[in-house]
Amino acid sequence: MEEQINILLLEDEQEENKLVKSYLKQAFQNSYRYDKVTSLITGTEKIRLQNYDLVLLDYSSTGPDGIDFVYHIVNELKIMIPIIFLSEENNREADLKAMEAGAQDFLLKQELTPYSFEMAIRYSLKHKKAEEHIQYLAYHDALTGLPNKNLLLDRLDRTLIRFSRTQRHSVLLFLDLDSFKIINDSLGHRVGDDLLIEVSKRLSSILSETDSVARPGGDEFIILLPEISKEKEEAALKAQQIADDIINALRRPIELGDHQLHIGISIGATLFSGKDTTCADTVLKHADTAMYAAKSSGRNTISFFQEEMEKSVKYKLALENDLRKAIPKKEFELYYQPQVCVNSGTILGAEALVRWIHPEKGLISPLDFIPSAEQSGLIHPLGALIFKTACEQIDSFKGIPRISVNISAKQFHAPNFVETIENITKETNVSPKQLELELTESTMLADIEETAVKMRQLKDMGFSFALDDFGTGYSSLTYLKRLPFDVLKIDRSFIANIMDDPEHAGIATAVIYLGKALNLHIVGEGVETEDHLDFLRRQGAHSAQGYYISRPIPADELITWMNQRLTA
Ligand code: C2E
Ligand code: CA
Ligand code: CA
Repeated sequence: MEEQINILLLEDEQEENKLVKSYLKQAFQNSYRYDKVTSLITGTEKIRLQNYDLVLLDYSSTGPDGIDFVYHIVNELKIMIPIIFLSEENNREADLKAMEAGAQDFLLKQELTPYSFEMAIRYSLKHKKAEEHIQYLAYHDALTGLPNKNLLLDRLDRTLIRFSRTQRHSVLLFLDLDSFKIINDSLGHRVGDDLLIEVSKRLSSILSETDSVARPGGDEFIILLPEISKEKEEAALKAQQIADDIINALRRPIELGDHQLHIGISIGATLFSGKDTTCADTVLKHADTAMYAAKSSGRNTISFFQEEMEKSVKYKLALENDLRKAIPKKEFELYYQPQVCVNSGTILGAEALVRWIHPEKGLISPLDFIPSAEQSGLIHPLGALIFKTACEQIDSFKGIPRISVNISAKQFHAPNFVETIENITKETNVSPKQLELELTESTMLADIEETAVKMRQLKDMGFSFALDDFGTGYSSLTYLKRLPFDVLKIDRSFIANIMDDPEHAGIATAVIYLGKALNLHIVGEGVETEDHLDFLRRQGAHSAQGYYISRPIPADELITWMNQRLTA
């Protein structure tokens, strides 16, 4: 059965178009219906409110006003509807103007036959369908079917216009997946695409009808929660709740083929209301800025936009710029922090910790520039430089069995990581047996299989591995069992609290017990007091590292420190 065609007929009161109506009946029998109006104003209102397929407009009764009307509907209200003029007399000038204004056709009544009329209408409807399809493509993301950035900006604009009346607060969330690039690069685009589709499904499932989720591109999503509250605080609270829902929805691992993926998400939020004279672009920019803040405060978090944030983003960009120049100039120095046996005090290793000696700002902590190096991709040349420096200095550390180097997740997942590391050790003539690579749990999150393969390759060359900051992340036993780690480092936050927090002491004890059961060498980090050292010793940990033994010190001081220990 044919779908019913909804027609709006605009014509004069007196002059009934009997002929047109009889043609309609002949062509479409019962599969059409029409509303008749006699004024352009009511016509406009009806078109706005109802879903017509076609407008038939009698030129004789409207004259040039009819052409203005078409222009208004098509170009100003941007309603895509075919409009056909019907005219008593041949009027070439009006015909051209009508087409220019956006009319679909200009038909002469005397020339009409039932067949030509039907064809003109069918053609218009087909044209409308095609146009709608193109419109759909222009406003949607082909992969997930979600609205794209254009459509979202449109909706955002409309929300902003409505504000002048409602004064309610809306929220825009800007979402960015945490380790998507790693997954995409290491497992391929097919897996990446499937992951994005699954994420978009999970996002859509937790939102309500009035919210809209869009995918502007890449691994980003945008959610508009329009007019959720009169009170700013309540709006913020609701945004927080939805962010929590989103984070929880993504906590469940995503199964794709043989892969089980864990994906985190960083969420930036901005509140806006009619009181602010903002435009859609600014709102979007604020949410984006907040998202970057969420990124740098760790995975799976939400950050709200604040004015000061803009300043800190500028500072970050400047830092990244400086960092780019600092790498070829080698403005970095490695400090070393010894690790000693809890029982004998003999040195078992040292951890290399990078410092940036900035020409103007002086010494900068890795906590301040490693995240920015990771975000900008500069971690790859920087990581290689750090590793090479450690290899070049290793020769002067006779008597230290092993030097450990921190490897960031992003660096590890680079396709050429294994090759880079191997080449540097060959160039500097260092045996991999002297080197330990420290990884954090975030490295394993992207894909445990790929991590296992790379670790195996490096282990076969002689490198050993430490799992850093254990206890702060997912603390998953899976990693420990399935990946060939040699060393487990208990995060310093546990050691710091063992004396006054029984829960932390309990966790530390359990971790040591577990690590020993898995035959791992246990290092306690952040040992600041004799009590800390005692605790580790009693619980059966193997080594200790921390200010109580030594702060991180430059290479030459480490040599002096060792010599003093030996003669003491
Ligand atoms: P991390 O790997 O957990 O390194 C240990 C951090 O704890 C070091 O901070 C060290 O100075 C500090 N620390 C050592 N003993 C104590 C103590 O007794 N008490 C306290 N409160 N802190 C102690 P640092 O050097 O600022 O490094 C911070 C983080 O930066 C490192 O944490 C590591 O994640 C990252 N990092 C440092 N160097 C590198 C590097 O070369 N490459 C990469 N990718 N990351 C690095
Ligand atoms: Ca470390
Ligand atoms: Ca650590």
